[in-house]
Amino acid sequence: MTPAPRAGFVALVGRPNVGKSTLLNRLVGVKLAIVSPRPQTTRTRITGIKNLTGAQVVFVDTPGIHERGGALHELMAKTVARALDDVDLVCVVDDASDGRPPDPTILARLERVRRPVFACLNKIDLVRPKSRLLPLLETWQASRRFGEILPISASRGDNCDRLLDCVVAALPEHPPLFPATSTTDQPETFFVAEVVREKLFVFTREEVPYASAVRVEELAERVEPPCLVIRATIYVEQESQKAIVIGLGGRMLRQIGTAARRDLETFFGIKVFLALTVTVRRAWRKNARTLRELGFLQTS
Ligand code: GDP
Ligand code: MG
Repeated sequence: MTPAPRAGFVALVGRPNVGKSTLLNRLVGVKLAIVSPRPQTTRTRITGIKNLTGAQVVFVDTPGIHERGGALHELMAKTVARALDDVDLVCVVDDASDGRPPDPTILARLERVRRPVFACLNKIDLVRPKSRLLPLLETWQASRRFGEILPISASRGDNCDRLLDCVVAALPEHPPLFPATSTTDQPETFFVAEVVREKLFVFTREEVPYASAVRVEELAERVEPPCLVIRATIYVEQESQKAIVIGLGGRMLRQIGTAARRDLETFFGIKVFLALTVTVRRAWRKNARTLRELGFLQTS
């Protein structure tokens, strides 16, 4: 019997320079078009999706875990805890070559987190002699906070397959959260398309959402002023559906756009400009090329 599929969100957290990006690229296997860090209001941001047979691992960033002190301390701690509770697994990454025990700030942050937490002690290729690793593992074990403590080398790949196995085993049984297309280089686009589709479903009547698809044409980050500029096309099959989606004087499309934009702003934690257009493409559901273009053909 094939086991039930697993899928979930995994947060990679840790101090700067410990190798989080290197590990992400190693685990996901493709270089990601990483959008620059969002302001602190961000709860989670998808940074990569790994599709495996029977499992999908969605990696997210939850910034702020290392911010210290100040009047906002308590609020920050709560925000981080909430963000970390939104995920299914937290992986704390640290630099094993420092030989340092877990950062007390991080341990304090993790106190409120109810999800499983792994420790990835990275850069073991720099640990010499190897016997230095054992006392380090012991100090991390002593905190009793980590479900797994894995010595790894993200740049060489040591133990990274085992880490991925442990991650998958810790995820809930769940069908894939995103389409498993061959191009996961900009997973944000899947999310945007899903949000727009959801609003279509909410605001229009039955016929339309099933006969529709959303393609994100542009997702660009502007620095001055900070915002995301998103252009997306809604594909429908008939002129009559196009008229429904646009609505009288464009009212329906504005409603869909406003609701989608609000969700996207909450998710990305940044102002969003969302431009939607509606296009008729007959029988797109039966056309393999169109399906592939729209990212619907599953490749793994
Ligand atoms: P981040 O700030 O946590 O995202 O860290 P990066 O992934 O940008 O890595 C910081 C530095 O550590 C880079 O120069 C990496 O090449 C290096 N690095 C990452 N992983 C390893 C590792 O396993 N071994 C060694 N020797 N260097 C690593
Ligand atoms: Mg990084």
